Amino acid sequence: MDFSGAVLDVDGTVVRGDDPIPGAPSGYRRLRDAGVEILFVSNNPTKAPPAYVDRLGAAGYDATADDVITAGSVTTAYLREHHARDDLLCLGAPGLLEQFADAGLSTTDDVDAADALVASIDRSFDYDDLCAALWALDRGIPFIGTDPDVVIPAAERDVPGSGAVIRAVAAVAGRDPDVVLGKPSDPAIETIRERLPYPPEECLVVGDRLDTDVALGARAGMTTVLVLSGVTNENDLAASDVEPDHVLDHLGEIDRVL
Ligand SMILES: [Mg+2]
Repeated sequence: MDFSGAVLDVDGTVVRGDDPIPGAPSGYRRLRDAGVEILFVSNNPTKAPPAYVDRLGAAGYDATADDVITAGSVTTAYLREHHARDDLLCLGAPGLLEQFADAGLSTTDDVDAADALVASIDRSFDYDDLCAALWALDRGIPFIGTDPDVVIPAAERDVPGSGAVIRAVAAVAGRDPDVVLGKPSDPAIETIRERLPYPPEECLVVGDRLDTDVALGARAGMTTVLVLSGVTNENDLAASDVEPDHVLDHLGEIDRVL
């Protein structure tokens, strides 16, 4: 099969922390040599694409900001399209709020005036935030999550991610979010398809998570590749209903797919 485009997840697929995953840079070069256009797609909502360029470059991957999509950029684009004039109550990291400010989006701390609630990973999330979310959502305003990742890898151990905050808010408010962006959402798929405008069957999705990376590829009709270099091991795979088209130890084995 000749592939025209590839979506590569970042953490657990091409890097761990700031270091390249062993073998992954050679797999990346193999894709490039095969003429495959590459897009890096991360579910990290706290960073905008330019923040990835240096980190990927230092690890051996040439990427411009245009080659990177993050849950932060998908969420910002979604809010600009649907909530451009709204005052947003945000439970999120400073890096997410910076992206909103850069995009001209307006935020508020007033639970009685907020037009929509955005929930995301926030290391200072506390009881007062939960109260604010409850009171704001009781007014029936839209409830938006940046990405579904409940647990994310950190340097030493896994830590709670956006999904943990979103689920806590959903539990107290007694309602699910209206939309959760990032992988595997429709807005993320649309953004990817704008950047890789090829028939889905000519595109690969490579990632280390079944519920986000592989699920996105399956929903988009793309060829899915699970790498076992991140959060998913063979036991997780055996216990899951999600079935990737290919399973590799790491991206360096991509020749088996091409
Ligand atoms: Mg990953």
